[in-house]
Amino acid sequence: MSEGERLTELAKRRGFYFPAAGAYGGAAGFWTYGPQGAALKSNVEDAWRDRFVVREGHQEISAPDVMPEPVFEASGHLDGFDDMIIECAECGATHRADHLVEDNTDIEEAESLPNEEVMDIIADHDIACPSCHASLAGEPVDNFNLMFETNIGPGTSSPGYLRPETAQGIFVEFPQLSEYARNQLPFGVAQIGKAYRNEISPRKSLVRVREFTQAELEHFVDPEEDEPPLSEVEDVILPLYSAESQQADDGGVEHLTVGEAVADGVVTSDWVAYYLGVAKGWYERIGVDMDRFRFRQHLPGELAHYASDCWDAEAEIDGDWIEITGFAYRGDYDLEKHAEHSGEDFTVFKQYDEPVTVERPTVDPDMSYLGPEFGGDAQTVADALEALAERNPEAFDGDEVTVEVDGDSFTVPVAETNFSVEEVTENGEHVRPHVVEPSFGVGRLVYTVLAHAYTEDEVDGEERTYLDLPPEQAPTTVGVFPLMDKDGMADYAREIAGALREAGHSVTYDDSGAIGRRYRRQDEIGTPYCVTVDYESLEEDTVTLRERDSTDQKRVSIDGLAETLERLTEGETTFDAL
Ligand code: AMP
Repeated sequence: MSEGERLTELAKRRGFYFPAAGAYGGAAGFWTYGPQGAALKSNVEDAWRDRFVVREGHQEISAPDVMPEPVFEASGHLDGFDDMIIECAECGATHRADHLVEDNTDIEEAESLPNEEVMDIIADHDIACPSCHASLAGEPVDNFNLMFETNIGPGTSSPGYLRPETAQGIFVEFPQLSEYARNQLPFGVAQIGKAYRNEISPRKSLVRVREFTQAELEHFVDPEEDEPPLSEVEDVILPLYSAESQQADDGGVEHLTVGEAVADGVVTSDWVAYYLGVAKGWYERIGVDMDRFRFRQHLPGELAHYASDCWDAEAEIDGDWIEITGFAYRGDYDLEKHAEHSGEDFTVFKQYDEPVTVERPTVDPDMSYLGPEFGGDAQTVADALEALAERNPEAFDGDEVTVEVDGDSFTVPVAETNFSVEEVTENGEHVRPHVVEPSFGVGRLVYTVLAHAYTEDEVDGEERTYLDLPPEQAPTTVGVFPLMDKDGMADYAREIAGALREAGHSVTYDDSGAIGRRYRRQDEIGTPYCVTVDYESLEEDTVTLRERDSTDQKRVSIDGLAETLERLTEGETTFDAL
């Protein structure tokens, strides 16, 4: 069994996740999180919120999943949010053409290649249809738009789309959000929510699905002035797989500190470098194995045309590298597009400390001269003179000035343009912020954390499976068991479970089956501690506290049990030190 298959089996058996709507045969790419999975997912989201929103001083919003068509016309998704599709002429199955190339050749990131080249590679390697094994050579590679379309209200006059990323819900609200930030750059707006992509071939359980949760941060910065607090992360070591290394024959991952990566120009945006540093610590916190982790830079062909530097955080599972987060410096592309399409103002007015006096060249052409002289072209000539005055006031130094309009030259005496240079006082300027975006896929994080936590060992000659999840992420903090359901042990155990819940712990009470089996059940869902109530408990008010990874047990007082567990889960003490 592969690592992924083992995990999916455990996930279904223990209630982490399973294919949705199984009673009706399900639909590929949709998964339901069971009780353990929903708890783990929400713990990952809470840890994300804590690190990327609260501690960074950003704001969180919640925008709709469905948005009207103009939003996605502006964002470019309607025209360009495509994957490469190839259809088998034999059986009619559709596949992602770039994935077929990656699976059947040494080529990585085939997504960055043009469609024709992918078609040629499929023919050259005689790649077969994974469903019916017929040859796909010669079949066309087309574009397939990944957005789910719907109608807003009855009829078809108002098309809408399920958002393919949460980000647009932030960009499109920028004018309002900027006001909430009192128009002061920099500021960050985050969102955790659903995104929908009609993937051609969903695969690897939670890795490529059609409905998933994203946690995205859009950090709006003044490109001229704002700098990230790099000193906070400069010593963090990043495993970097640069574009250059990927293209070199012997290239590999380099370990550089954030400070070195910036100084050496490996990461070109200071803002991206800052977030790589912050994120590295956060992945460790939630339980991503740092020996199976890297930051990979986008290759030139992969880079969106507006993005200047992009890195993906990748985790290794089953020998494959999975993108869990994208970090991009997006410039002002998104806000500019929404400004252009909506006609609204997507800038911030930057107030100067002191008003400044600037010289502004202006013209006020004499139309009673231009009219008779240039006829129907008079107004265009006037506009061209105005533009020229702004662009190149020196052109008005002589007696005559010449402007070009649609390939024709028009010469005007400077006196007739009423050229002058005025002094004006300005209090500030309009700035279109640039955007730094870390974009996390929550399902892929959950999958990675589970895969990396999956451990097998032997206890008392018996094989055991457990998840060594960090206590903060574990769905349940403590399992509480009565040794036997008699002599008041169960009532006492229930009382303890209630008190621990009251103190804020996530508790599972279990009185069914042999005690060893109950421990195994908790081990398999990653519960870090178990408490057992036995005869001694009834007499001495103590319980057995068992640690998941070592399976060691200690007798501890019930008095202060909630605090002990709190200190253990917060890392303020260790089990050995108890
Ligand atoms: P992207 O906008 O494609 O860079 O995606 C941002 C993040 O969303 C990625 O880093 C993934 O973690 C996640 N993601 C993208 N597509 C999917 C998918 N089909 N299923 C699950 N997660 C996804």
